[in-house]
Amino acid sequence: MAQAATSVIDWQAAGDEVIEHFRALLRLDTRNPPGNEIRAAEYLREMLEREGIACEIVGPTPERATLVARLSGDGSGQPILLMSHTDVVAVEPDKWTHDPFAAEIDDGFVYARGALDMKHMVTMELMTMVLLKRAGVQLKRDVIYMAAADEEVGGHQGAGWVATHRPDLIQAEYALNEGGGSEHEINGRRYFPVQTAEKGTARFRLRTRGRPGHGSQPHDDNAVLKLAAVLLRLRDQRLPVHFTASLRGFVEGIASAQPDDVAQALRAVLADEANADAAIDALPLDDSFKLGLRARVRNTVAPTILKAGSQINVIPSEAEASLDGRILPGWTPERFLEELRPILGDNVEIEFLEPSEPLEADPASPLFDVIKAVLQEHAPGATAIPTLLTGATDAKHMAPLGIKVYGFAPGLYDGPAEWNRIHGHDERCSVRSIQWGTRVLYEVVERFASGG
Ligand SMILES: [Zn+2]
Repeated sequence: MAQAATSVIDWQAAGDEVIEHFRALLRLDTRNPPGNEIRAAEYLREMLEREGIACEIVGPTPERATLVARLSGDGSGQPILLMSHTDVVAVEPDKWTHDPFAAEIDDGFVYARGALDMKHMVTMELMTMVLLKRAGVQLKRDVIYMAAADEEVGGHQGAGWVATHRPDLIQAEYALNEGGGSEHEINGRRYFPVQTAEKGTARFRLRTRGRPGHGSQPHDDNAVLKLAAVLLRLRDQRLPVHFTASLRGFVEGIASAQPDDVAQALRAVLADEANADAAIDALPLDDSFKLGLRARVRNTVAPTILKAGSQINVIPSEAEASLDGRILPGWTPERFLEELRPILGDNVEIEFLEPSEPLEADPASPLFDVIKAVLQEHAPGATAIPTLLTGATDAKHMAPLGIKVYGFAPGLYDGPAEWNRIHGHDERCSVRSIQWGTRVLYEVVERFASGG
């Protein structure tokens, strides 16, 4: 039984073990590029094999290693996949107050690159496997563990590689991943956004052509000016609003815990797609919340790179912009282009770059119910809500396998600016947060996979 198994775990001792593995993993330099995720994979293999959990290291090269392990259930339920990535992004060490690969503890925080993105989840999921095994939990669903390489530069050498070459290792009904699960405060109320959907990428290049000429004799058939005009139209015309189930659940969930006036203002956003922007503008909430909401209700496009000309006295014959396009669940780059065309006009060339699929798992599911129940016990007074991630994670590689991915890396609220440290300086995770998160994650997985 779920409760019986939980009670045999010494959470004090498990908490110490969590910190030990966390710090050990953080000290392994897995900056990507080049990655060298084999360092983390070998550490994890040793830990898992010591507990009698079989695992396999796979990948396109020995260095770009992804580790997969499995605890078998009785086959009466479909597997659940615990996914994470072991690579981290680059650092500017001189901007840090602590060595980014020493994993020092200062004032209750562990400082290191990867503390929140995402060796905390690598560790919490590792501990979940180990504790399930030690407690001898009778599983109905297999519990699969994947610590993947290469997420930070697209995942094609990691989760993407496994999904393509060894789908047998990870095929599952559900997955838990990064992208949500951490406690947030909105207008003084506490929430746990759980990622149920994420946008896909539909990035593209725009090219305009014109007549070359001498810079001393300007003319209007100038590729640079044409490109500038197109880009300005993207600033001046917002793309239409499209609600998704996750967005509705997100807004409704936030409203459910707010005072009446704020709740009413939030519900006004959902009243009508055509008036949603005006309702968002009028929300009595902070600007960063509104910025995020505007991006969640529509496909978006942001110009990020410009290229034109090579000499200051030569009018170039072409100009090019790269744009970061992000599409909602249910959309394809082709449909997105239909929506963009009236804004871009016909006099531009468009070339899509390797797109990635958006995805959405039903915010109403047995797994989400278990997450809500466990959070209610461990964070009473906080509200679990679905959310749609505007960025992309390794979840995109799971979409072709039909796996329903939830972003749930449980963590406590450590202050308003903590998220700025991800990919920034002084990334850190509090000791209390990862210890609490390990217990919450364990209980979710144990309850869900044992069907108790
Ligand atoms: Zn990440």
